[in-house]
Amino acid sequence: MENSKLRDEILELLWAMREKGSKNYAALVEGVNDSKASDVLRKMEKAGLVVINNDEVELTNKGEVRSRDLIRRHRLAERLFHDVLDVGMQESEETACEVEHFLSPSVTDSVCSFLGHPPTCPHGKPIPRGECCSKYKNEIKPLVMQLKELDAGARGRIVFIVPSENSRLERLASMGIIPGSVIRLKQKRPSFVLEIDETTLAVDGLIAEEIYVKEQK
Ligand SMILES: [Zn+2]
Ligand SMILES: [Zn+2]
Repeated sequence: MENSKLRDEILELLWAMREKGSKNYAALVEGVNDSKASDVLRKMEKAGLVVINNDEVELTNKGEVRSRDLIRRHRLAERLFHDVLDVGMQESEETACEVEHFLSPSVTDSVCSFLGHPPTCPHGKPIPRGECCSKYKNEIKPLVMQLKELDAGARGRIVFIVPSENSRLERLASMGIIPGSVIRLKQKRPSFVLEIDETTLAVDGLIAEEIYVKEQK
């Protein structure tokens, strides 16, 4: 692997390890699985991206910024390929590994807006927020939106679901609320009422935020 790519892989791995509470040097090198890993890590320390202390590696602020961007691009790309373009999980991940190196910040924010600012990747890992997520500027017509954004009466195909509790996914699935299903939002007030396969059900507002749909005209 060329050094700049290897550097990016290391930055991402450090981020993912930190999510699991680890900053172990040996585990990092093993995870990278490239004979140049220790070499590149030394260069990264010189460049001010990481600090190496005995058996631990930590991101500096500068490293953190880069690693956050890479993770954001990677996880957004996974959502795009897996949920919107229907590419299998493994291929989505491999493609995400490629595109994360060249998506510009503005393209990244466009993808994020297009997907309705998803909070997690298909593996359930958090996607670092971008500027677009708080501004909600609507220059990009979103393809995917939270169910609560649909107009009453409109129909949407479920693209992905981001449940705050995992147990909820099963309950929703038992009602036919799974990616690919088409639902109609009958009303939004005073509560959300959906129609799916001739069945009408009321759901609470939180659930209407966790289901991401593509409007069906
Ligand atoms: Zn993922
Ligand atoms: Zn966003």
